[in-house]
Amino acid sequence: MTHPLLDLAPLSAAHFASIEDRVARLLRTGQDVVIMQGEALLPLEGAIRGCAGPGTTALNVVTGPYGQTFGDWLRDCGATVIDLTVPFHTAVTAAQIREAFAEHPEIDFVSLVHAEAATGNTNPVAEIGEVVRAHGALLYLDAVASVGAEPVLPDAWGVDLCVIGAQKAMGGPAGVSAVSVSERAWARMAANPRAPRRSYLSLLDWKERWIDGGRKALLFAPAQLEMLALEACLDRIESDGLDAVMARHAFAAAATRAGALALGGGLQPYVHDPREAAPVATTLRSPDGTVAADLVSRALAADPSLPLSAGGGPLSREMIRVNHYGPDATRAAVRASLVALGTALAEQGLGVDVPAALRAAEEAWR
Ligand SMILES: *Cc1c(COP(=O)(O)O)cnc(C)c1O
Repeated sequence: MTHPLLDLAPLSAAHFASIEDRVARLLRTGQDVVIMQGEALLPLEGAIRGCAGPGTTALNVVTGPYGQTFGDWLRDCGATVIDLTVPFHTAVTAAQIREAFAEHPEIDFVSLVHAEAATGNTNPVAEIGEVVRAHGALLYLDAVASVGAEPVLPDAWGVDLCVIGAQKAMGGPAGVSAVSVSERAWARMAANPRAPRRSYLSLLDWKERWIDGGRKALLFAPAQLEMLALEACLDRIESDGLDAVMARHAFAAAATRAGALALGGGLQPYVHDPREAAPVATTLRSPDGTVAADLVSRALAADPSLPLSAGGGPLSREMIRVNHYGPDATRAAVRASLVALGTALAEQGLGVDVPAALRAAEEAWR
């Protein structure tokens, strides 16, 4: 008997290229799109190692945990790194980027996370892109948590390296990812003697052996099941409409925020300004005297399928994450999360109003 997951015809180069083209359409980009055969950390690291070296001066914007990782990779490449760290309850502004360039005109690379699922903020990439462009630096963007939840437009924004993964708002697989690469970024890599070559991390290998060869022969056997899952995920987004998918995420975020505020008991949105709150996930500050990780365990004990988690590391005491993305960008998931958090807060003796929270969430969804 043939097995639906095992006995598949090999994935052809033409099929692989057609999936890349559909990712390019999703990003409305005319840049080269390379699908990498690994989780998004693969192109995130590959792009930094491809571009950075001892001659690089990088402005590394830290608005959450990924920015810290990018800074570590950049330093490891020998780059001079200027970290611009902003409190995790806000976004970075274009003015802060402008000031950094004024102080350090030698900056030639900017690394930025678009939306942070881990801290719940989102950064104004269009405005930042203008500043970076005016100074001629390369702009590297981690759009893993934003794609599918809000617009991601590398060409319009002047992003030179835009990394996406399908596992968050796209509701797809985690095992493959993609990066769009501008001509300027390819030139930087080609001129970088330290850029990975003949390496799993190498973007240049894909440029030289796949793209420049007309995408006729793959470098190695692709992760076929993951590629098919990515294609199915693109099918679903195209049939629902990207705008509708993004709207579901925006509504889920607005409803969670409004619901949490109406719930009471001292629960607060973690990101103060709603315009800086990411549509992909909503972070909440646990009330004084409570521990976020305990509240989340109580809520999950009642229903383990809820999209709730505590913040990572030291944030686990104060941050609750409502991960309303992908299949959880629904009214039902938001309502169930509010009810469970309300129950957990009530068990701690805090006064909450669950019906008011559900009403506020419903109104925000409209
Ligand atoms: C989720 C995410 C990634 C990918 O990391 P995983 O932990 O493997 O899911 C990368 N960058 C950002 C900003 C993310 O939110």
